[in-house]
Amino acid sequence: MAKVYNFSAGPAVLPHEVLAEAQSELLDWHGSGMSVMEMSHRGKEFMEIIHDAEHDLRSLMQIPDNYKVLFLQGGASQQFSMVPLNLAPEGSSVDIVNTGHWSRLAIKETRHYARVNVVASSEDTGFDRVPDQSGWKRDPGAAYLHYTSNETIGGLQFPWVPDSEVPLVCDMSSDFLSKEVDVSRFGLIYAGAQKNIGPSGLVVVIVREDLLGRAQASTPTMLDYQIHADADSMYNTPSTWPIYISGLVFKWIASHGGVKGIAARNTEKAGLLYHAIDSSEGFYTTHIQSPFRSSMNAVFRLGNEALEETFLREAARNGLVQLKGHRSVGGIRASIYNAMPIEGVKSLVSFMQDFARQNG
Ligand SMILES: *Cc1c(COP(=O)(O)O)cnc(C)c1O
Repeated sequence: MAKVYNFSAGPAVLPHEVLAEAQSELLDWHGSGMSVMEMSHRGKEFMEIIHDAEHDLRSLMQIPDNYKVLFLQGGASQQFSMVPLNLAPEGSSVDIVNTGHWSRLAIKETRHYARVNVVASSEDTGFDRVPDQSGWKRDPGAAYLHYTSNETIGGLQFPWVPDSEVPLVCDMSSDFLSKEVDVSRFGLIYAGAQKNIGPSGLVVVIVREDLLGRAQASTPTMLDYQIHADADSMYNTPSTWPIYISGLVFKWIASHGGVKGIAARNTEKAGLLYHAIDSSEGFYTTHIQSPFRSSMNAVFRLGNEALEETFLREAARNGLVQLKGHRSVGGIRASIYNAMPIEGVKSLVSFMQDFARQNG
């Protein structure tokens, strides 16, 4: 087993079994005599790998047949421009919910291609909540509504899927496959791989077919979903290694009770961690209101920065690593994605209790 528990926000921990399997077939994939990294992306071996990955993802999420699954590059950030270029006709307007860092970047990039209507924002309360839907100022003529289901840096998560009359678009990068979602409610879902799926260099896009084929005229070929959909993600060389590892992760999820089983474990993990914060008598604090606390990234603070530095140092000495909060918010961030075993969370909680006792 790994010597440490890795709480990185991304690139993040991968299932130990998946890494071990990849290691065992690193030099010779299934008797092909080749490593996956060396294979032609159009050869029968890799075609089998990408086909299985798509098939397994479709069955995990019960993706309806009228949705395409695309394996693209450029990370989730590329989607900030790709989505409006493809889904917002010239001169149209787009609705976006502002819940923090990643939605702000989506808003900034979308403004290059469309008018942006920020339907709601919790910025004035420090992004401590998801604004209540009843107060959203929607544009009924919007090309789509975009939201970020989990703000990886702020530690803020939507506990529900917004209602929408217009196509719903979601940046699901950091809570993809962490709980069950009804794909049919969405026009498009995208997720960078390095949080909850696999290695960086891959972004998964799930898009309803009727939204394809309306890209703005100036859209570069490589940013046109239709091009990638028509070529089954093989218009150019896809990121073969990340697709292979992601495929192994999909099988790993399936063998752990599917998304439902994983979600139950995630709820238990997050429950343990937030209980440790809430029962610390103010030693650890989080400003996120409880219904919106992220089950993937728990962001919290200690009394002062010097104490946080000591916490991080001693945690690392105890094999609990990459717990530093994002530089824009400071503090501590424990990312507990699907692949973080419950033993890792228990180990962190027990360290937190000891540390509070010694420094309280
Ligand atoms: C990490 C992240 C991104 C950016 O991902 P890249 O792959 O680095 O472009 C976007 N949105 C969310 C919610 C993220 O967590």
